[in-house]
Amino acid sequence: MSKRNINMVIGLDLDGVLVDHTDLKIRLAKRLGFNLLPKDTPTEVMNKILPEGRWRELQHLLYSDPKLSLLSPLMRGAKSMLNNFQKNKIDYLLISRRKSTVQALKLLEKRGLWPEYFNDKNTFFVVEPEDKNIKAAEFGVTHYIDDERRVLEKLADVRHRFLFDRHRVFPETDFYKKIHSWPEFYEYLS
Ligand SMILES: [Mg+2]
Repeated sequence: MSKRNINMVIGLDLDGVLVDHTDLKIRLAKRLGFNLLPKDTPTEVMNKILPEGRWRELQHLLYSDPKLSLLSPLMRGAKSMLNNFQKNKIDYLLISRRKSTVQALKLLEKRGLWPEYFNDKNTFFVVEPEDKNIKAAEFGVTHYIDDERRVLEKLADVRHRFLFDRHRVFPETDFYKKIHSWPEFYEYLS
């Protein structure tokens, strides 16, 4: 990464971007009677496979259950990327739509991201996709990475939108750039 990137401000989503829920989603779906493959686990795919009530039930376990919500690992390469941001003095912040923020913070702590990489000053929880845009604009976010297209669609004030498409299931569009791994993001920073 070069010095010219110093004016970048990177906005990060938590679930499906910094944290990889693939295996846990498959496990929880199985518990509810659905056999899923990794490619079925992105939110915008899975919420069409599971009936609404089941999907809500699964989300509750995934994000709010005191034990289950702490099981998912970090996305491969996420910590190296954060180290790079720090080393190159690139500003970054987390904007998540988690409702159960207590469990989200516990997970960040358990995975060694809090307070080493995230703290009160660069971590924000909002409600609606539109709120992500408001928060991003407030901090002058230049690049935002999310795993949901419907969120990226609302980020009108962010110049560079990235879809973290870990399982390569979504189409290419002009509206966002697709990445499927953290190392792939490096290419856009150099
Ligand atoms: Mg997400």
